[in-house]
Amino acid sequence: MKTITMKFGGTSVGGPEAISNVVEIVKTEREAGNRVIVIVSAMAGVTDNLLASVNAAVSGNKWGYLSTADKLRERHEDTLNRLVPPGKLREKTFSQITHLLNEYTEICNAVTILGENTARVSDAIVAYGERLSSRVVAAALKASGVESAAYDAGEFLLTDDRHQGATPLWDETQARVENKLKPALDQGVTPIITGFIGATQKGAITTLGRGGSDYSGAIFAAATDSDELIIWTDVDGVMTTDPRVDKRARVLPYVSYQEVGELAFYGAKVLHPKTVQPVLDKGIPIWVRNTFNPTFPGTLIRENGEPTATVIKAVTSIRNVSLLTVSGKGMIGVPGIAGRTFLATANAGASILMISQSSSEQSFCFLVTDGTAENVKDSIESELGGEIARRDIEKVDIQDDVVIITAVGAGMRGTPGVAGRVFSVMGDNRINVIAIAQGASECSISFVVAESDLERAVVKLHDLALESAAV
Ligand code: ADP
Ligand code: ASP
Ligand code: MG
Repeated sequence: MKTITMKFGGTSVGGPEAISNVVEIVKTEREAGNRVIVIVSAMAGVTDNLLASVNAAVSGNKWGYLSTADKLRERHEDTLNRLVPPGKLREKTFSQITHLLNEYTEICNAVTILGENTARVSDAIVAYGERLSSRVVAAALKASGVESAAYDAGEFLLTDDRHQGATPLWDETQARVENKLKPALDQGVTPIITGFIGATQKGAITTLGRGGSDYSGAIFAAATDSDELIIWTDVDGVMTTDPRVDKRARVLPYVSYQEVGELAFYGAKVLHPKTVQPVLDKGIPIWVRNTFNPTFPGTLIRENGEPTATVIKAVTSIRNVSLLTVSGKGMIGVPGIAGRTFLATANAGASILMISQSSSEQSFCFLVTDGTAENVKDSIESELGGEIARRDIEKVDIQDDVVIITAVGAGMRGTPGVAGRVFSVMGDNRINVIAIAQGASECSISFVVAESDLERAVVKLHDLALESAAV
């Protein structure tokens, strides 16, 4: 008997047809004699709806959340009506939906009255997406004869109190899983657990960051010592590039943990960047599969990727970033400027996506997500105030209309000339490269281009990935 953790994304639970597929997938695994732990996202679009409604509530817009509550009720109830026959189970689930939406409305009322929203309140509100979808999926499974129960992840997954980007408390989570989740599994129950959310030790709801239910899947896979983690999504697997940018994208049958870590960090939305971390030490394989094409095997992610000569396996891009440049002739040979700059960046609450330095030491640049750039600039200017006054540093610049493009592949390590090929392709296509960085792991090369060059840069680089896959 195997234990399998399955995570279903927003599109995979987005409506009655999708949830019927979920039911079939889970049922098949149960009938094969395996234990299944199911992690669900909110129905597609619901997280965005909830966030928009709370933002509107702050400025006194009651209509926004009241109409969101109506729409959510309709969507979840319609789905339930299509999946669960009339009777006790349907009625009970209806009342759970009503109860959750009443709570949601009450919290939004409070936000309107106070005219203030905090990260903690926002987490409590956005969590209703997963709390609702989990009830519907559990009911659909029960209706098809699978013994299942919905759980709010905060019953098991304890985190620190960094709302909107919380970190798991591993020991406490493991203990809760042993004491509360494993007994349910032993009794033959298939738990349907909300992805994306956890709770502090005091019981406040936290979230793991946008797209975080993949991470939830990995946390539960590790804590239950699962044999496999399957990320069920809306594409056939991890692909050579985002199929929305280049239709020629192909599924990669094997990818290593390290490669997928780079892919996710540099913008491949198919997996949250933290997904690999909990399963890595235990060597739990991750599959990425398509809920709408369940006979297709998908992508296998494990310790060693594909043993082939494929050099550039995949190409990713990140939009909505800002490039900060610190420059000045007086920086040459002055130790500590970079260190102080990065500390000032961290103090502004921003994380750095990529760093590059010009060899003359007259400037260096780095990238942050674009909502944070102004704060970062202020923080650096105050940290380096002395140097700026002495004109050792001439300026701290922000450039917004840029993107990061990354080529990933473990085969780059020890293969000479890869960077040369990448940048001649850019040159041949007259794409100006603004900054370059290579990961120390030599598993990726990243560079910055103007936003208007994004599509062309990805497609041209993708040509190289497709060529190298064809060898
Ligand atoms: P889910 O709701 O299942 O978590 P997401 O929308 O978060 O799904 O992620 C799946 C999407 O990621 C795909 O629809 C695809 O457009 C996008 N994507 C971006 N890069 C890649 C890639 N390299 N391989 C596969 N999908 C990718
Ligand atoms: N529902 C959450 C989001 O949209 C988490 C997830 O889907 O992974 O960000
Ligand atoms: Mg996702």
